Amino acid sequence: MTNDQLFDRARRVIPGGVNSPVRAFRAVGGTPRFIARAEGPYLWDAEGRRYIDYIGSWGPMILGHGHPAVLEAVTKAARDGLSFGAPTEREIELAEEILSLVPGLEQVRLVSSGTEAAMSALRLARGATGRPLIVKFEGCYHGHADALLVKAGSGLATFGHPTSAGVPPEVTQHTLVLEYNHVGQLEEAFAQHGARIACVMIEPIAGNMNFVRAALPFMRRLRELCTQHGALLVFDEVMTGFRVGLGGAHALYARDIPGFAADLFVFGKVIGGGMPLAAFGGPRAVMEHLAPLGGVYQAGTLSGNPVATACGLATLREIRRPGFFDALAARTRTLLDGLLAAGRATGVPLVGDCEGGMFGFFFADALPQQYGAVMATDKERFNRFFHAMLDRGVYLAPALYEAGFVSAAHGEAEIAATAAAAREALAAA
Ligand code: PMP
Repeated sequence: MTNDQLFDRARRVIPGGVNSPVRAFRAVGGTPRFIARAEGPYLWDAEGRRYIDYIGSWGPMILGHGHPAVLEAVTKAARDGLSFGAPTEREIELAEEILSLVPGLEQVRLVSSGTEAAMSALRLARGATGRPLIVKFEGCYHGHADALLVKAGSGLATFGHPTSAGVPPEVTQHTLVLEYNHVGQLEEAFAQHGARIACVMIEPIAGNMNFVRAALPFMRRLRELCTQHGALLVFDEVMTGFRVGLGGAHALYARDIPGFAADLFVFGKVIGGGMPLAAFGGPRAVMEHLAPLGGVYQAGTLSGNPVATACGLATLREIRRPGFFDALAARTRTLLDGLLAAGRATGVPLVGDCEGGMFGFFFADALPQQYGAVMATDKERFNRFFHAMLDRGVYLAPALYEAGFVSAAHGEAEIAATAAAAREALAAA
């Protein structure tokens, strides 16, 4: 069947034809590609067309598709049993592996999705501090828990409004939404509400508004304010964890800000290697508020699933090999340089940034620092570029507010082909 036929068939039985909205190509228009299989850096759609994959399942596939060590671990684990609903040694191994890669992290609990991990971290922060308020930033996505589907209220340090139908305003009245990288708003929020703020949740490099880094002075002040007011700083590293570097974004801020440490962490994507697995973690004293030890309830039938943990473990063991991230970062840098050079060659204003195996580019004159600026970049040109690249066999994220991902399987040939495609696409678009 063709992609069009599959999309028609899908729309009859699945709302919008997709099981997660961004897959539907609503932002860029056109028919989504139905993927039949994947190998290394490539995807093949239902019509047999091949694409260089810069989505990588939205982050997890850091080794590329079908890595032999991962496939072997997964098939072996599957033969031993798909799910037990009882503890296994492999869960301990994965927890130990994660702790060994994130200095200072003392305990983690495994769950099945980033949404679950972020939602649970919030409940834990509130339970541990006994405080009701949470702070998030416009443009950061932390999954679709009710309290996090919020946009900024009118005016400084006011409470947010739901961004989704089905979320009563009462549910978001404890969520403050601030502008990313805006120190003044942060100070105002803490001045007004500091004693009632349980936590501040942040994507330290925001991949849900393409690629926007939290500036160092902003992060430094955020840490100071959380400490002063007794609020927990929650790093949502679902996207950046084990992706922008072995120690995630946290290691970058800890390198540049003396004494810096987040309190809680949220992980997903790479730690599952493509299987449903995520985690949240923090200091033992905080984590012990969780059931069965403490009063904060949290559970999951498939949490710590034996096949998912095997997949995650095999993936983490590959990425910790010496030189892995140096090579990945170099390749990602070459890709970004190629895209930017294509912009210069064609006279198209294009800027971008990257870290480890994650990158972003914007049709703009300067790198945006917050959500409003991201959404003000040239959407029409992005959409034309997206389709022109897709026509040339390059599969980029189908929305200008999404980051891109490079895997270890992307070789020089794929990177060079992408840059060449970009030059043609920009000239045409
Ligand atoms: N946090 C961040 C930073 C994310 O990027 C995402 C998903 N893209 C989530 C949380 C939610 O994860 P999931 O889709 O696995 O529920």
